[in-house]
Amino acid sequence: MLRYMTIIFSILLITACSNSTVIDTEKKKEKTVQDNIVISEDGKISFKIYNTAGVPEERVDIIKKEISNAYKVIHQFIKTDYTPSEKINIFLLEGNENSWGLRSEIKLYSVRNGKYPLVHEMTHTLLGYGNNFDDSKGYLTQEGLGVYMENTYGKQSYPVHKVMNYLMDKEKIIPINKLIDLTTDDFFFRPPFVEYEDVVLQWISYTHAGSFITFLIDSYGLEKFEQVYNQDQLEKKMQDIYGKQLEKIEEEWLHFIEKNEQELTSNDMMKIDHFYNMNSVIDHINVDEYQSH
Ligand SMILES: [Zn+2]
Repeated sequence: MLRYMTIIFSILLITACSNSTVIDTEKKKEKTVQDNIVISEDGKISFKIYNTAGVPEERVDIIKKEISNAYKVIHQFIKTDYTPSEKINIFLLEGNENSWGLRSEIKLYSVRNGKYPLVHEMTHTLLGYGNNFDDSKGYLTQEGLGVYMENTYGKQSYPVHKVMNYLMDKEKIIPINKLIDLTTDDFFFRPPFVEYEDVVLQWISYTHAGSFITFLIDSYGLEKFEQVYNQDQLEKKMQDIYGKQLEKIEEEWLHFIEKNEQELTSNDMMKIDHFYNMNSVIDHINVDEYQSH
């Protein structure tokens, strides 16, 4: 019965419009769909944009250019054994939640206010993350590279060394071996978000990862970094590749941050999302329990 009614309704609808209007509408629909696809310059990957947040077409056009440019740098930035998906859906979403870069989809938030971390998420999606986007290979090199790439090629600049310096002043330092230990790393990078302190701990952890990996790349180069990116048994792997114990490299990094004394200015603080909120509870974060190596 329902189907019969639908058919009648469709016939009425079609006869109500002129034929050319129907064809025009169809063409327009098709054009919009095609318009929202970006093919990578090497023709290997098609990105399809879903404008779920309903942002203006101009913004979608900007994002399309950004996707194209980001692909050019990211896919050849380091060699990995990961082959990205040929089809990647990019969802432009309402709200300011954490964005995600998965195997064949990117969920991008903060699109309306222009604070979407596109390059960060595309770095995960194009270079691989864990074993099929799980946590089996930790978070440090992957999130650290995401922060580095967004800072270098994206629009969301984050003064990562300055914030690290600030965390050191506040004595909120988490040893790297705790951040890469597969039995404890979820606690830092994927906390349950029950309390606001969870958000702050995640921010502290991402800052450590971003600052440490930026230091590694800047001081020791990409060739070495690509050999430790997204690898199993990271601590051992790093010792093999860098010829030093993780603790030694960590010391060099903290010394570098201290020596450079890049102060986080109030201007920097204002630019960091939720800085003042996070700062107001930072003293509740007790990192002493993570200090033992
Ligand atoms: Zn990330």
